[in-house]
Order: sequence, then C-alpha cells, then structure tokens
Amino acid sequence: MASMEKIVSLCKRRGFMFQSSEIYGGFGGFWDYGPLGVELKRNVKEAWWQDMISSHNELLLPEGAPATYEMVGLDSTIIMHPQVWKCSGHYDLFHDYMVDCRQSKKRYRFDQVRGRWVECKDQKIFVTTLADIEEEDAEVQRRALKFFKLRGKDADRLSYDGDFMTLDALDNMDQVLGPDANELGTLTEPREFNLMFKTTVGALSSEEDGAAYLRPETAQGIFVNFKNVLDSTRVRLPFGIAQVGKSFRNEITPRNFTFRSREFEQMEIEFFCPPDQSQQWYRYWRDRRVAWYKELGLSGDSIRMREHHAEELAHYSTGTADIEYAFPFLAEGEFGELEGVSHRGDFDLRSHMEGKLDPNTNPLTVELNEDGKPRHRGSGRDLSYRDEATNEKYIPHVVEPSAGADRATLAFLCEAYREDEAPDEKGKMQTRTLLKFHPRLAPLKAAVFPLVKKDGMPEVAKEIYGELKENLAVFYDEKGAVGRRYRRQDEVGTPYCITVDGQTMQDKTVTIRDRDSLEQWRVPMKEVSTEIQQRIRE
Ligand code: ATP
Repeated sequence: MASMEKIVSLCKRRGFMFQSSEIYGGFGGFWDYGPLGVELKRNVKEAWWQDMISSHNELLLPEGAPATYEMVGLDSTIIMHPQVWKCSGHYDLFHDYMVDCRQSKKRYRFDQVRGRWVECKDQKIFVTTLADIEEEDAEVQRRALKFFKLRGKDADRLSYDGDFMTLDALDNMDQVLGPDANELGTLTEPREFNLMFKTTVGALSSEEDGAAYLRPETAQGIFVNFKNVLDSTRVRLPFGIAQVGKSFRNEITPRNFTFRSREFEQMEIEFFCPPDQSQQWYRYWRDRRVAWYKELGLSGDSIRMREHHAEELAHYSTGTADIEYAFPFLAEGEFGELEGVSHRGDFDLRSHMEGKLDPNTNPLTVELNEDGKPRHRGSGRDLSYRDEATNEKYIPHVVEPSAGADRATLAFLCEAYREDEAPDEKGKMQTRTLLKFHPRLAPLKAAVFPLVKKDGMPEVAKEIYGELKENLAVFYDEKGAVGRRYRRQDEVGTPYCITVDGQTMQDKTVTIRDRDSLEQWRVPMKEVSTEIQQRIRE
C-alpha cells in the first residue's frame, strides 16, 4: 500500500483535502474538503443513504435478514437540550485521558478502559487509569496484579480508583517499571478530559445556566425523536432511523490526517426491534455493513471485522463489532476503526425515559435506577412501544451501525491509490499514479477532450460535455498533450475519458478510454451518454 505522505500530498495537490484555515497556519484537527474532495465525500454519503435507505424495499426480505423492515431518515440539530447529554451518559463519562512525556513533550491520549502503550525516555510504558481493574482485559489484570505484588501489595483482587499504573514492556514480564513512571519523572500525571465542545446559548446566559454542547454523535438526536417518528409515520417495529451529519469531539491528539478530527461527519442508524429478535438483527447489520464497504471497493485483506471480547463490552451491550481498515499510517498488522456496530439493548431509550444514577457511585457502569432517584432525570415520557398484534408493551432494543463519513472517505482514498507502469504517447513505460475508485464514488465520472484545439473538435467535444453534464459530474479539458490530460484524470480517479479526434469529424464516433485497463474503443457520439451511465451503474 502507498505511503500516507504520497496520499496526503496528492490530496492537497489535486484539491481533495486542505488543512482548515491554512493561510493562518492551520488549525489542529480541522480539515476542509476541496472541489474534488467534496464530490468524493458526497458520493460516499449518497451511496450510504441510497443503499441503506432510499433503495431499501420494505416489502422484500433482504438476504440474511430475520424479517422485512422499514427505514426512514432524520436530520436533528447539532445543539440539543443539555439534559440529552446527561441522560445519554456523555456529560459524565465521555472522557479521554492524557499524559505528556516530559522529555519529548509528546502528548498521548488514552482510553479509560483500554489504556495504551506510550514511548518516553526510551521506555515503553503501559498507561491506564482503571476504576475497576476487574473489568479489564485478563492480560492487563494479570500484569496489574504482578505489578502490585512487586510493590508489596499482595492482592488477589484489585479495585483501585483513578490511580495511575505503569507497566513494563510486553515481552519482559519480570521486569516491572516502578514505582510509577511519573515518580520517575517520565510522564506527567494523567489528566481527565471531557471530549464535548461546550458553548453557551442565549445572549445573556452565563456559563452556568446557558451551557450547551455540540453533539459528539448524531445518535442521540435519533433516540430523542423516537416517539415523534413513531407518532408521525406509520412505521412499526422492526425499523431503522438513519441520520448523516456533523459531530464534534475535542480530541486530545487529533492526528493521522482526517482519521481523528475534531469536526467530522457520521452516518448512523438506530435500528429498533423486539428484544427477542435483537441478536439476529445485530448479526444482520454487522455483516451487511462489512459487505457494503467491500461492494464499494475495500478489499478483503485491508478490511476486517473485530468482535469485542466480553470484557470490552459496555455493561448494557451484548455485542459490539468494529469494522476496521488497515490504514497506511498504521503499523503492519494494525487496523483502525471505520465503523462500530453495537447491540445497545434498551439502554438509550430507557435512560431518556427514566434518567440516570449518579455516575460517581460506579463510573464505568452507570446503571439505570428503576426505584431510586436518578441524578439526571429523564424526560418522563413514555418511550415504550405497543405491539398491535399481541398488545404487548415493551421498550425496543437497539442495534446501532455507527460509521464515520470522513474515515470511510479516507479508507476509499487509501485503497484506491495505485502506482503502475503505463506507456506514454511514445510507447515508453512511465510510472502512473491513479485512484482506482469504484465508479459510484469517483468525484468525476468522465472527462471530455478534443484531441487538438482546432478543426471543429472543441465544438463537438463541448457538445458532448454539455449533454453528459446534465446527469453526471464531468470535466472538459483542451489544454496540453492528450497523454498528459489522461494522466491528470487517472490521478483523480476519473473512470472514463472521451476523446474527439479527426475520425469523429468524419464518422461521428469518439473514443472512450478506461482508466484501469487503458483499453480504448470507439462508440457513436450519440451513444456516449447512455454507455457511460450504464458502465457507472454496473
Ligand atoms: P475511536 O476509538 O477511534 O475514537 P470511537 O469508538 O470513539 O472511535 P464511535 O464513538 O463508535 O467512535 O463513533 C462512530 C464512528 O464515528 C467511528 O467508527 C468513526 O468512523 C467516527 N469517528 C469517531 N470519532 C471520530 C473522529 N475524531 N474523527 C473522525 N471520525 C470519527
């Protein structure tokens, strides 16, 4: 796979992505999409909407689905009532942690549950702040027990709250760095950090009473509208509500191009179903979503599905699978998350209905309080569902396929990037850069060239261009050698180039050139539009 530098450089050179506010030196974690990038990302979002919602036929049983189902869309606001985030758990729990290496000043973000390895002063250190080590992965637990033993705390069971732990490198379990890396002066204390961007609403509001948050996910807008959708449409369980839109997270270390940004777009589905069908729906959505990425070009080797271990699951979840891609900025064998598909039970609807306990009593597992007084009161609205056939009333279970539009766009870009050898006009082999996009995703579907800028060729080419442009994103180019024009289109992934030449002026046929096979063939001018549209749909 190509190096990330080459992809980033192509993106900037050809107008896919730019650093936000670049003329002011850029702004970390924010990216702008240029003229070709915006088309590519729109195509990704449109393919998702088309395949998941518009062309979904609720009368037919999709392959692998336990039943027929309906899909509807939604567009909720970015700023919502602050209570939404209290009941969703984000206000109390949407934290990351950070530590800085005192020597290199490098900042590392880590997840409360998973922890991470950091490198500082030539040491490889594992950092985590586990509220309850028993919840962790067995390997970490084993190391932690050993670590504490060596420090004179002979414990069989550990429960340590917000403490800081450092463990030595993977391979040498007998050698434990101690006492603490921060005591050794290696790392700073870990600091907790809520990832939600805060703002104030209303001209006179003070920080306290006007505080509101930019949504860190689109999903909650769907949960709080569940009842509205049920009451205003004729949808019945099982059904899904889909939404595409911006989300914001104040990421501590935005990096890897658009992979981890502070402003990004999500494509999320909340799929509501009867509890006894939820496992089947979970498996259906997990497999369906992996298949979608593959249909649009991600190859078998670069994409994988990783089921979470039981210990990694949130307490309300009975299954979560990450769909991951081997991004070129990752080390060999490593994968980065493209999409998470999770079984969320009735957790969200129930929280918005009944409220949440004080998370300080058990920070990792905020449980529903059915009898006591929740710290964050829910809406008090009845978010349950009555099955008309059985007259049974229950809170639906939810399966959530949650994808990132920017990460998907980046994965399609990385996968498409190729360098091959192709003959130039004189037949000499040259290195060619191409983006081998699936035609549905390609920002431009075709380019139209007059071979030379005379003999009536530009007029004919412009006529073809005009006709194609009514339905497709096409580009007209008459500048420079035709070989160079082909190369420029290969580099941005245009699947077809149409050339008007001397023969066109006699027999009204043009050549079509295929980006991948480099094959060229002639078709009558008046059939070009149909032929290109047909090929793009295939
Ligand atoms: P990560 O562990 O990488 O931070 P996450 O597990 O927090 O991701 P989710 O909360 O499951 O991510 O969000 C769903 C999807 O939204 C992710 O799979 C990803 O595609 C996208 N996403 C999340 N955070 C970002 C971000 N900072 N930049 C770009 N896309 C993101």
